[in-house]
Amino acid sequence: MSKSIFYSDYSWPELKEFVSLDTIIILPVGSTEQHGPGLPICTDDYMAVKWAEDSTNLAKSKQSMEILVMPGIHYGFAQHHMAFPGTITLSFETLKQIVLEVGDSVLTHGFKKLVILNVHGGNRNSVRAAATDLAMKYARRDPPVRIRVVEDCDGDINPLVLDRESLLPFTKEAARNGMVHSGALETAKMLYLRPELCDIGKVKDVNLQPNRSGAEIYPYDVLTPYGALGKPSDATAEAGKIMWDALVLHFADMLLKMAGTR
Ligand SMILES: [Zn+2]
Repeated sequence: MSKSIFYSDYSWPELKEFVSLDTIIILPVGSTEQHGPGLPICTDDYMAVKWAEDSTNLAKSKQSMEILVMPGIHYGFAQHHMAFPGTITLSFETLKQIVLEVGDSVLTHGFKKLVILNVHGGNRNSVRAAATDLAMKYARRDPPVRIRVVEDCDGDINPLVLDRESLLPFTKEAARNGMVHSGALETAKMLYLRPELCDIGKVKDVNLQPNRSGAEIYPYDVLTPYGALGKPSDATAEAGKIMWDALVLHFADMLLKMAGTR
């Protein structure tokens, strides 16, 4: 059945058949927003789709199962980055509504396993609100519908927790168990994935202010004149590969578990 892992590569009768095959549907949610002077604005959007793609291929190489990656949502909630040109933002309500209506469409057609894959902290509230509304609408369906939000900062998937020791030689940021926007760790992932789009000579290090450094949604121009935080100059492609492999391995495991449940 699987000529491609991408939802949009199939015709409607083929997608109808996927419904009967207990297929897991992944909806990547990214953001088109500034990532400091050294990284492209596609950073989150690219990683959302690539994470879905690589994890799907790994899971399918381990076990025969059906997974489809939907076209990603390229725009997110990025109001806190709007002081930096290039950023595009949706409102909280618009993003919630897009995720809700896209999810509603596939669930209406009978798909039973939906994963909303989010890589941008600013999207978190909208994505979870949409997942809650979908769960309320579809919870009573038989067979049951499973809706899961997966994010790269989740405790059971966070490579900073899982592979912290192997990342520590590269950067002190790993000791924080959290990633800052366009810091060493996020820069490392892009150096590994899209080195041709990174300009490491242009990155700027910014000391984190302890009282604000954990804030997910805070106007970034107040925190940094560059749009980036932490010490991106520590980033290496080697550290990026460690993080990326961990992310892919753990999301693939999650897909394998999901495939085995009703
Ligand atoms: Zn990012």
